[in-house]
Amino acid sequence: MAKVTELGTSGLLGFLETLLEKKLVKGIIALRSLEDKLGKVAYSLVVSKDNLSGLVPDFPAMPANGGKVISYFTLKNAPLEPVAVVLRPCEIRALIELAKLNQAHLENIIIIGLECGGVYPYEVLIDQKVINDNLISRYKESLKNGENPSGIRPVCAGCENFRPLYADIIVSQIGREKPVLSFPTDRGKEIAQALGLTLEEGEIYSSISDVLLEKRKEEKENISKRIKEEIRGIEGLVKIFDRCIACHCCSYVCPICYCKDCFFESATFDYSPMYYYNMLQDKGTIKLPVDTLLFHLGRMTHMATSCVACGMCEDVCPVNIPVARIFKTIGSDLQQLFNYLPGRDLEEALPLTIYETEEFHEIEE
Ligand code: SF4
Ligand code: SF4
Ligand code: SF4
Repeated sequence: MAKVTELGTSGLLGFLETLLEKKLVKGIIALRSLEDKLGKVAYSLVVSKDNLSGLVPDFPAMPANGGKVISYFTLKNAPLEPVAVVLRPCEIRALIELAKLNQAHLENIIIIGLECGGVYPYEVLIDQKVINDNLISRYKESLKNGENPSGIRPVCAGCENFRPLYADIIVSQIGREKPVLSFPTDRGKEIAQALGLTLEEGEIYSSISDVLLEKRKEEKENISKRIKEEIRGIEGLVKIFDRCIACHCCSYVCPICYCKDCFFESATFDYSPMYYYNMLQDKGTIKLPVDTLLFHLGRMTHMATSCVACGMCEDVCPVNIPVARIFKTIGSDLQQLFNYLPGRDLEEALPLTIYETEEFHEIEE
C-alpha cells in the first residue's frame, strides 16, 4: 500500500498546468502535437500556460528516447529552476544510465513517470491512418482490459518494466477509470504537500495492470526464444544482419550510445584498395559495405549492460532488422549475469566500472 490520489477531472494536462501556475516548476518537457489530430509529436519545453494546450504527455509515441532528450537539455548543467519531465519507464531508465555516465544532470529535474501501455512505431503515427483507424481509442480499450494494444512496438509487447522503477511522481493509468498519482520520493512528497493534495492509502497499480504484467513476461520469453533460435551461431548472426546497410541509425537514436566520436565512425574503418584486394583473394567475394556484423557486435559489447530495451533502434532501421529484440534478449541475459537492471537505481554502479572478486568463477574452470 502507498499514499495515492486520483487525478482531477482536468487530467494530466490540468495537473501540469497547476504545477506551472503554482510556480512549483519553471517549465515542462513533454510530448507536444505538431499537427492537429495527427500522430506527429515531438518533445518540447513549455514555460507558459498559454502553450500547454498542444501538449499530449501520454500520447503513445516515442519520437526520440526522452532520456536522451533530457541528456541534451542538462548535459552541461542542470536547469537553475525546477523543470518537470513526463517520461515513460524505459526513458527514465535511460536517463538514469546517462546520469551515471555523466551525460545528464538530474538536479532540478522532476520526473513524472507514466505507467506505460507501450508506444506505436513512429511510422504508424505519422500516417493519416491514426484518425481513420481510431488507433488511440483502440489502444485505450485494450489497456482497460489488460491486453497489449495491437500494433505497438514488438519490444513494448514484451516489456515487463512498464512501471516506473524511479520517478518523483508516478501516473498509474492501466485499468483505471481515472489515473492515480503516487509520490515515492521526498521531492514528490513536497509537491503533493505544496498542492494540498489529500492522499489516501491505496495500491499504486491496478489488478488489470498485474494481468498485463503476466502477459508481458510471457511475450518477453517468446521473443527471447525466437531471437535465440534466429541468431544461433555465427551463421545465424550473419544471416540476420546481412541486410544491414550500415547507416548506423540504430546507434544514433540509441540513448545509451552517447559517444560523440564513435569508434565505428572513425578512420580505423577507412580501408585502402589493397585491403579489399586481399579480402577478395581470401573470399572471392565480399559484401559491401564491410564490417556490418562487427559494428553490431562492437556496439553490443559497449552498451548491452545498459540497454533499456526502448525499441528506438528497431523503429528506425530501414531494413527491418529486429535490432531492439536482439539487444533486449542479449542485454537482458547479460544484465542478469551481473545482477544489474539498467536505470533501477542511480546509486548502483555500472557493471563494467567495478570489479567483484567473487564473480564468474565458472570462467576459471
Ligand atoms: S519499452 Fe516498455 S516502457 Fe518503453 S515504451 Fe515500450 S512498454 Fe513503455
Ligand atoms: S539501422 Fe538497421 S541498417 Fe542501419 S546500421 Fe542499424 S541495423 Fe543496420
Ligand atoms: S540498443 Fe536499442 S533498445 Fe537498447 S537502449 Fe539502445 S535504442 Fe533502446
